[in-house]
Amino acid sequence: MNIGGLLPFTMIDFPGKLSAVVFCQGCVLRCPYCHNPELQTVGAQTDVRWDDVIQLLKSRQKLLDGVVFSGGEPLVQDDLKKALEQVKELGFQTALHTSGALVDRLKEVLPLVDWIGLDVKAPFAHYAKASGTKSEAAIGSKTEQALDLILNAGIPFEARTTTDPRVLTKADVKALALTLSQKGVKHYALQEYRPLENGKLPEPSPAEITSFYTDKVFLDELKELFDDFIVRRA
Ligand code: SF4
Repeated sequence: MNIGGLLPFTMIDFPGKLSAVVFCQGCVLRCPYCHNPELQTVGAQTDVRWDDVIQLLKSRQKLLDGVVFSGGEPLVQDDLKKALEQVKELGFQTALHTSGALVDRLKEVLPLVDWIGLDVKAPFAHYAKASGTKSEAAIGSKTEQALDLILNAGIPFEARTTTDPRVLTKADVKALALTLSQKGVKHYALQEYRPLENGKLPEPSPAEITSFYTDKVFLDELKELFDDFIVRRA
């Protein structure tokens, strides 16, 4: 495992669980709104060893309920399955934060995961801008396959979308939400874009950023589509 960081305690990354978060190094996407660009390079040298993570978890067995594998993209890790098995053997529940772009790896680890936060970045046919990749549909199609896998497996999960106004319009979000709802997604979250200090694209205006959240009709329409719809403001 190539670990970029470790958060010993969180109450927000795995619903209802006190958890540690393991930030896996490396990602296959380059989303323009990414707040962890230092975690993007696959195979970068880092200071945290997997053994250190295991030692910390052993010392917290009575204090924590779960371990969240976040990133970066955890599915990049060749040893993720082994790591999940180890964590389960220690008695923890597991959560995975993923873009779903590596479907085969997801299939492999799915039986070991108790909850998933799935980033769905844009309507599946229009994924290039939101994921920072060249191919418009390829990553979107992988994400759709990942979503279908998760739905079929019946694992509890949340689909979430970051509303970066440079890559998504409200119409895009509505179309995406409708697709997700029709597929059977029950829990959906919109996450407000947080401005970056050194982003590659020009920053949007505050009004553009908040436009998704000041339109009550838009939000009410989305709410109708899901059992549980939440907004996370920056
Ligand atoms: S998937 Fe996540 S870690 Fe990877 S570039 Fe996008 S926001 Fe950053």
